Amino acid sequence: MNDTGHLQGASPLWHPFADMGAVARDKLVLERADGIWAWDAEGRRYLDATASLWYANLGHARDEIAAAIADQLGALDAYSIFGDYANQPALELAERLAALAPSPGMKVFLGSGGGDMVDTAVKVVRAHFAQTGQPQRTHLISRTHGYHGTHGLGTSVGGIPANTGGWGPLVTDVSVVPHDDAAALEREIERVGTERVAAFFCEPVIGAGGVRHAPAGYIEAVAEICKRHGVLFVADCVISGFGRLGTWWGIDRWPVQPDLITVAKGLTNGVLPVGALLVAEHVAAPFFPDAAGAPVLRHGPTYAGHPVCCAAALAALDVYERDDVIRRGRDLEDALAAVLRPLAEHPLVGEVRAGLGLMAAIELSEDVLRAAPDAPARWVAAGREAGVLVRPLAGAIALSPPLVIEEDEIALLGTRLANSLELLSDALAPAAARSAG
Ligand code: PLP
Repeated sequence: MNDTGHLQGASPLWHPFADMGAVARDKLVLERADGIWAWDAEGRRYLDATASLWYANLGHARDEIAAAIADQLGALDAYSIFGDYANQPALELAERLAALAPSPGMKVFLGSGGGDMVDTAVKVVRAHFAQTGQPQRTHLISRTHGYHGTHGLGTSVGGIPANTGGWGPLVTDVSVVPHDDAAALEREIERVGTERVAAFFCEPVIGAGGVRHAPAGYIEAVAEICKRHGVLFVADCVISGFGRLGTWWGIDRWPVQPDLITVAKGLTNGVLPVGALLVAEHVAAPFFPDAAGAPVLRHGPTYAGHPVCCAAALAALDVYERDDVIRRGRDLEDALAAVLRPLAEHPLVGEVRAGLGLMAAIELSEDVLRAAPDAPARWVAAGREAGVLVRPLAGAIALSPPLVIEEDEIALLGTRLANSLELLSDALAPAAARSAG
């Protein structure tokens, strides 16, 4: 309570994933962004090393996307794809995504974001089995450190205990297996009973759970295990799609064909909220018979296929294609890793995870985290002082710059991160002295 008898904080805005006690005292208000840069209300300029929240892949302030949004607002400003309604941008977006998909004939369900699509995926999977004579196949398996959004079903399949606990009962027929062990998936399928397992949720590279790469051969192995047991393989590509790993979907860096794919974020360059779920033909088949009378998937958010949002996605796809942006996630991965790896020598750093796409994490050492559990948040503050925006993860910071970043700007990012580590050292010095004493 403050002295007016109301709760702390001048602003009523409740921030996601935020310590509101801290935010009430200190927050970063961004006012403008362009390319890889963002400016705060005082005019300070920052290198946006997280592409906002892993999504401004094309850089900020793309005129092409703004123009497409304005044009669409002047034509059909709103209409969903509820029931038999359709709109041209939604139809075209579905066509283009299906044409780019890693396997032919995929169907496309549209929604408002990643979590929306994860929950849709769970419902589609279970509805598929209900329609094909295996209604008992409801069990879902995911991976430790996995993040699948904040909706009900996505929260239930999450592999980050801090996110899944504290809500009371969630969906219970879920299990989480070690993220780096394909054999553990097969053991769990057999333990639960093959005939009960519906789907396995897998990020190509675990993102919010720490930027964790799967061991060599893991993705191929889990895809094969799923296929052999009739378990649907859901690739959650919300972060890794649209060039983040140098390919359209992220999962297509590996020679596998997922049954379902979730994407969002980079699909519109983060400009408007759109998610898409791609569903393999064999999964969607019961819902697409040759004549009317099909089972109805009684599911769909209000903004599914919103024409203005779809127009933004179409414009973003145009830029990805025209400027050959997708491949940059792979072309630049070595350059990013080369500036980050030397930071592993810094006494505060435990590990640098980089080298696959333009996503990386720098983990602080166990000693640092023991002495100062809030060190990642303090590193974010030190980063701002050094002119770079980074994101805290559990014991680390994440880096996922826009794909349009140039090599000299990657070098500048390295310099600013090195500077931020020095600032962090200074800030942590009292805590380090206390723990040494
Ligand atoms: N799935 C993955 C892999 C994600 O990284 C995220 C968000 O970061 C989501 C799902 C949820 O997406 P949204 O925040 O758009 O609901």
